[in-house]
Amino acid sequence: THKPLDQQVIVITGASSGIGLATARMAAREGARVVMGARNAEALAAIQEDIEREGGQATHAVCDVGRREDVRALADTAIERFGGFDTWVNDAGISIFGRLEEVSDEDSERLFRTNFWGTVHGSLVAVPHLKRHGGALINVGSIASDMAIPLQAMYSASKHAIRGFTDGLRAELEMEGAPVSVTLIKPGSIDTPLPHHARNYMDREPQLPPPVYHPDEVARAILHAAVHPHREIYVGGGGRVLTGF
Ligand code: NDP
Repeated sequence: THKPLDQQVIVITGASSGIGLATARMAAREGARVVMGARNAEALAAIQEDIEREGGQATHAVCDVGRREDVRALADTAIERFGGFDTWVNDAGISIFGRLEEVSDEDSERLFRTNFWGTVHGSLVAVPHLKRHGGALINVGSIASDMAIPLQAMYSASKHAIRGFTDGLRAELEMEGAPVSVTLIKPGSIDTPLPHHARNYMDREPQLPPPVYHPDEVARAILHAAVHPHREIYVGGGGRVLTGF
């Protein structure tokens, strides 16, 4: 078991919206010091202000997770402001909806740079610190880490890649006896603006299949894993329901 949340510093990428935002708010309410990363500077500043108004402690760094140096600067922000971090959450991600034949290589590469390489950069920046001090690495995969979703093939591929990377990294750290837990979170359909942020090649609005869960359900699972090591946690999706943390 790791430290209780009120003694933790938690870094969260993708904290400006959806699941990352829900996690940042919940973590701050639970007494954790929160370090938020995303591209939208205005959104992050407003969220930090909200958290501080409620008596929480937070800071942020504007970063594109596709750039290793940005992610390293996010870690430096945590170290400068709070002296380090105990949990690192790689949440930032985007989707593409449409037929595979129509999706541009440029969009596919942007998706992989964000979802897969963003997770790689975050993990490789966080792990040396976590190995020295102990803590949790939490990667947000998807039900699409296990099965492919039609009209989201590239997204599914990126989430499968995240699973392979996360499982491989965990195996390495276990082999070394490192004091780091590595968790893959696998949400089903979650009610966030993700479909609106996605590149959409379809002639209709993208919709996630029901049942659709609240982002707080995922936030709860992430914060559970920040304290209690788990290899993977499903939240909703395909009958593999694991909620109620
Ligand atoms: P949102 O679109 O609401 O949030 C995505 C977050 O990622 C935003 O904060 C966005 O911030 C950030 N982001 C996107 N690109 C970058 C980038 N290049 N660098 C830094 N931050 C970036 O979606 P969700 O909350 O739904 O998604 C969060 C995670 O959950 C994703 O990994 C997604 O794949 C996963 N997931 C979501 C499901 C769902 O049904 N919603 C189901 C399963 C998994 P900004 O634009 O400011 O950079």
